[in-house]
Parts: sequence; structure tokens; C-alpha cells
Amino acid sequence: MSAERISVIGGGLAGCAAALAADARGARVVLYEQRPATSAPTHQTALPAELAGTADLGVEDPKRATGLLKAELRILGPALMECADATRIGEQTLAVDREAFARAVAERIEAAEGIELRREQLPALPDGPVVIASGPGTWSPLARAIHAAAGTGFRFSVIGRPPLIAAESVNLSAAFRAPIYPGAEPALFVPLSEDEAAELAARLRAAECHEPPEFSPQTILAEESTTAERMAADPAVGLGRLLSGPRGPQTGHEGLALCLTPDDADGRAWHVEGLLTTLAPEAQVAALGALQAFSGVRLLRPALVQRAPWLAGPEATLASLQLRRTGRALIAGTLTGVYGYAEAMALGAVAGIGAAKIARGSEPLPPPHECLTGALCRALADEQPHQDGRMLRANFGMLAEHRDDRGLGKSERRKRQIERALKAVRQYVEAD
Ligand SMILES: Cc1cc2nc3c(=O)[nH]c(=O)nc-3n(C[C@H](O)[C@H](O)[C@H](O)COP(=O)(O)OP(=O)(O)OC[C@H]3O[C@@H](n4cnc5c(N)ncnc54)[C@H](O)[C@@H]3O)c2cc1C
Repeated sequence: MSAERISVIGGGLAGCAAALAADARGARVVLYEQRPATSAPTHQTALPAELAGTADLGVEDPKRATGLLKAELRILGPALMECADATRIGEQTLAVDREAFARAVAERIEAAEGIELRREQLPALPDGPVVIASGPGTWSPLARAIHAAAGTGFRFSVIGRPPLIAAESVNLSAAFRAPIYPGAEPALFVPLSEDEAAELAARLRAAECHEPPEFSPQTILAEESTTAERMAADPAVGLGRLLSGPRGPQTGHEGLALCLTPDDADGRAWHVEGLLTTLAPEAQVAALGALQAFSGVRLLRPALVQRAPWLAGPEATLASLQLRRTGRALIAGTLTGVYGYAEAMALGAVAGIGAAKIARGSEPLPPPHECLTGALCRALADEQPHQDGRMLRANFGMLAEHRDDRGLGKSERRKRQIERALKAVRQYVEAD
């Protein structure tokens, strides 16, 4: 009996990771992507794996959770990590040239013998094994079909991204390079006067906001922050955090500065770090125009704050990422209630491996609990993992305590957790 064909809905980070992981295991995959015919404001191109926010995939140091997750991903399904390596621009972190990264992924998908990319919007779940990775822009009719298959309703979180500006439209002559804190990736800082900062805050306060539904005063964005206009409106908070410049004595700067992070290898486009706002694009330009260096600023992509739907909890999913009620369907990416590029790719790979198993007639297994990917999958299927309804990020606290680690200091314990995690992922992949 030949293996069933797998459908993957969504050619974002998670869907591409799923399709490539399944292809690497000999599966036949149809990858459905609705762009370019239908596109949400999140994306601007038709390229697969277009990064929705900044171009930084984060640290690689396995002593940090996002670093260990990426180390595990290099074993689970390394294709997207290889694309990131090939387009890397970061010195300390895996920051990539955003467009070159997406092009590299497009080439991998194109070259993969088992993957057929269909530019089509799916309104329903196809027959057979299916990975649902339709991301933050999952709208009906697909959302209704997912609801029916899962038997539970969606929950919602709010995610933001800063504006992307054209370098040639701003005066960067006074800008200096420094890490935002000692040891971080160097960024570009544009010094500001107190008057400019006050005017920026005033323009943010005065402009009309376009907040998503149910964006209450308590709502915290997935980035653990709030919008710039809310910061500006709160005298106790102000724009201090946004404009505090590089932090710590080794960074050699005191005073206000706006931080820019790169989007490409040539310095043509920069993200205005942390400026998450619901203002309309023209109002974003007008607010930034309060700063002398930005008086002619041109937006390449406006800041965006949007609601992201997700399903999680024991009534919805299993630790294998299968929907509890419809075992042939697996979910991945932000749809599982995780935030983060590494999280989206890791869960995508797990769902792809699981779907390949279903296609071969066997049952998917969750990744081992000793690794962060496995711990994250288990957390999603747990009762109350999402504190205050916020999206989950991988963290070392998710790993169960190991009896051999009792009495050890933090660094020795971390070293052993990393060794155990990578060994467990290797065994999981070898046993597949
Ligand atoms: C605005 C924003 C900014 C973010 N910034 C960051 C950041 O800076 N750093 C970070 O770590 N994380 C960030 N995230 C969170 C998260 O890491 C990314 O959203 C990640 O790209 C999610 O991957 P995904 O595959 O789940 O979704 P996506 O990358 O959005 O992919 C989903 C894909 O499915 C397609 N699709 C949807 N419905 C259908 C359908 N019915 N049929 C066919 N195709 C369909 C969409 O067109 C899209 O291409 C951000 C999220 C958002 C929304």
C-alpha cells in the first residue's frame, strides 16, 4: 500500500518546516499557500516563510531556551536552519537578510521532490493527514472548519511588529552602532534630544488608535510589551523604555536614542525596534517625523498590531500536536498558541514528522520530554500553560526536574539539561 499524501495548509515558517521535514522522510506533500491571490496585512510578498516581524531568529547559544530549540531543530529538520545560515547577517544572533532567507526557503521547497506548492486558499480540511499551519491570519471559512475538527473554540492573543523604514529616507549621519545591552547583537542608535522625544510622545498620544477588538488596558502583547501610544499616554511609563538607548556601562552611551535593527545585508531597510503601534501608516510617519533625522521618513512596511487565534489545552490537542478529536490533523506554528520564530519552526518540524508517520499508517509520537521541543508540546496540551491568556515561549522551566540533577549548581544543571535534550532528540529522529 503506498503512503497517503499529506496536505500542509500555510506556507509560513511552520508550514514550510512541516513540509520539508515530511519530504525528508520520503512523504508526498501538497503545500497550500493562499498568497499572492489572498494576503493578510502580515505579509507583503508571495514568498514562503516571509518573516512577519523583525529579521532576527534569535540567539544560538543552547544555554538560552531559544538557542536550544534551534539546536534541536537542526536535528529534527535542519532545512530552515540551513537557509538561515546561508543568509545570516547577525554577528551575535541568527539575524538574517529577510528577503534572502525567504528566497532560500522558496528554492528549497522548489527543489524538494516530494513537495508540490499550490497557490490556493483552502476553505476546509482536505482528506488524509493534514498539518494546519495557517498562522495569525487564520480566517473563516478555514477557521470554522478547524473549529469543527477541534471541537473547541479559539482563544486570541495580540502580536505587534515595528515599522520598517527605508535607510535612504532618514539621516543616519549621527547614528552609532552598539549592542542594546552588553553581549547583544549590535544595532544602530539614532540620538535624540529631550524635545524631540517629548514631541514624539505628544504625536503618539494625539493620533487615532486602531486597536484590535478586546484590546483591554490589561492586554500585554506577545512581545511582553504594550503599544507605543499606550506607553506615551501613561505618565508613569512614558517612552523611556523605547528611547533609553543602549543599556549598561559597557555600551558607552548615555542619553536618549532610537534603536534600529537591520532587515537586510546592505543596510537598505531598518526596523524601528520596539515601536509597536496601532496608528494608521500616515500617523506613524507623522509621529516619527517629530525626530529631525526622520523628517523625510518613508515606510517600507507599516507597524502592525494584530490578533492571533490559537487552540491549546487538553480538550484541543495532544502532545503529538494532533487534534484530540481528529487525529489525522495536526496543528503547528502560532495556531498552537506559541510565539516566536524558533517555536514556529520547531513545532512545524514536529507536525511534519507526525504527519509523515500517519501517512505511513503509524501513530505520531510526541518528541521526548527531555528536550525543549517535547516539553513545549506537552505544555501546549496541558491544562493552564498560558498565563493570562498570553502566548507561550519555550523556557527551561518547562523541562521536568531530573533526579540526577538534584543538588547541582545552575550552570552544571543547565549543561546536563542541554546534553540530555540533544541526545533525546537524536534518539527520537533515529527511531523514526
Ligand atoms: C505582526 C507579527 C510580528 C511578529 N514578529 C515576530 C518577531 O519579530 N519575532 C518572532 O520570533 N516572532 C514574531 N511573530 C510571531 C511568529 O513567530 C510569526 O508569526 C511566525 O512567522 C508564525 O509562523 P506561522 O507559520 O505560524 O504563520 P505565518 O508565517 O503567518 O504563516 C501562515 C501562512 O498560512 C497562509 N494561509 C492562511 N490561511 C490559509 C488558507 N486558508 N489557505 C492557504 N494558505 C493560508 C498565510 O498566507 C501564511 O503564509 C510575529 C507575528 C506577527 C503576527
